[in-house]
Amino acid sequence: MFEIEIDRDACDGIFACLTRDERFVEDEDGLATVDPDAAGVVSVSQNGDRVVATVDGDINDARLAAQACPPNAIVIREEDT
Ligand code: SF4
Repeated sequence: MFEIEIDRDACDGIFACLTRDERFVEDEDGLATVDPDAAGVVSVSQNGDRVVATVDGDINDARLAAQACPPNAIVIREEDT
C-alpha cells in the first residue's frame, strides 16, 4: 500500500503524469487527480489543494509519474505495514 499526494496548487496541467500512470486523470478543473475507480485505488480524498489517494498496487508507475512532473506536484509515500 502506498499514498499518492497531488498538490493541485502546484499542478500546472501538463499531464506528464497521465502518460506514465493510468491511475492519474484530468478532472473538470483541468488539473490532475486520481481515478477512484482505477484498479487498486482504495480511496481518494481532497482537502483543499491536496488530493491524497491510497493505492494497493504497483508503485513504480506512480514513481515515474512523480519524477516526470515538472513542478514536483506529486509525492509518493510508502505506508508502513
Ligand atoms: S505532471 Fe504534475 S503538473 Fe502535470 S498534470 Fe500531472 S501533477 Fe499536474
